[in-house]
Amino acid sequence: MSDNCLTIAVDGPAASGKGTLSRRLARHFGLAYLDTGSLYRAAALKALDNNVALDDEAAVAALAETFEAELLDDPRLRERGVGEAASRIAGLTEVRNALLTFQRKVAYSAPGAVLDGRDIGTVVCPDAQVKLFVTASVDERARRRHKEMAEKDPMVTLTDIKADILRRDARDSSRDAAPLLQATDAHLLDTTNLDIETAMNAAVSLINSVLAEKR
Ligand code: C5P
Repeated sequence: MSDNCLTIAVDGPAASGKGTLSRRLARHFGLAYLDTGSLYRAAALKALDNNVALDDEAAVAALAETFEAELLDDPRLRERGVGEAASRIAGLTEVRNALLTFQRKVAYSAPGAVLDGRDIGTVVCPDAQVKLFVTASVDERARRRHKEMAEKDPMVTLTDIKADILRRDARDSSRDAAPLLQATDAHLLDTTNLDIETAMNAAVSLINSVLAEKR
């Protein structure tokens, strides 16, 4: 952490709205934005493309260290299978370590950044000035993710998406390596009954009050 750098950590389960919120918060506060889930998705996609077994820790970690930056813009990153593979490789300690340096470089480069993920407030940036934990009920998260996915794949059902989310939540929360966890000093934002504008207003006032207290 440095004086000329503001780091905002946003964690939460799949489809909680943290990505949309974080991107907008970054714009609002004039900071960089890093969707750390896309790093796990890119490493997973690289493994799938190269027929590397998802439980081959050393091989997947090597891919996580070396994948091309352009891969982060690949539309295949958002596919269901890639999300599932990302959640599987995210349980591997060497893979997590391979992605740490890059995340911290973004977080601690002036003027700072908003990072969203699962372990930003607990492991990647435990000293972030502001930490949010964004959540929503599983039914609401499934409804939102289904709406987004159904545009690309009309065959996918709400039941499938809810099952995906429950499986990923369980895996992300129960793993030994950096599990999904609300940091003790993170502020909870439940977006179940909030539209994006209301959630954004709540997050901005929370962040401003935390920063005002620290001044
Ligand atoms: O956020 P998103 O759904 O894109 O993340 C894909 C997967 O990457 C998650 O299910 C989770 O297992 C993993 N992940 C993680 N730590 C992060 C970000 C994502 O373990 N900081």
